[in-house]
Amino acid sequence: MPDLICIVCPRGCHLKVENGQVTGNFCNRGVQYGLQEATHPVRMVTSTITIRDGVVARLPVATSKPIPKWMMFDVIREISKVEITAPIYIGTPIIENVLNTGANIIATRSIERSPQ
Ligand code: SF4
Repeated sequence: MPDLICIVCPRGCHLKVENGQVTGNFCNRGVQYGLQEATHPVRMVTSTITIRDGVVARLPVATSKPIPKWMMFDVIREISKVEITAPIYIGTPIIENVLNTGANIIATRSIERSPQ
């Protein structure tokens, strides 16, 4: 397993994971992160989608929970297929259970309809 940089906080400890043991961590969160990265790495995904008739042209979205790292680009591809119409409210599910990950794609801000 290559060395890892812990991304849980800005300290950025350099971790080594060997035989289920984590070294180089300053705190216990690094142990949890290192073991997760070694066995089942996950990531939150953030992106934007096109929104019609809104006061801005793009709606920021994110996964409701981390998804397997290897699925990130497939999920981004699914997000890129979606277009919606304003208004939209923060927290609204845009795609439910995206690619059977158990995560929803949700709006991370509200966007009002543009006055016409
Ligand atoms: S091991 Fe702890 S202190 Fe080091 S980067 Fe991770 S969370 Fe921060």
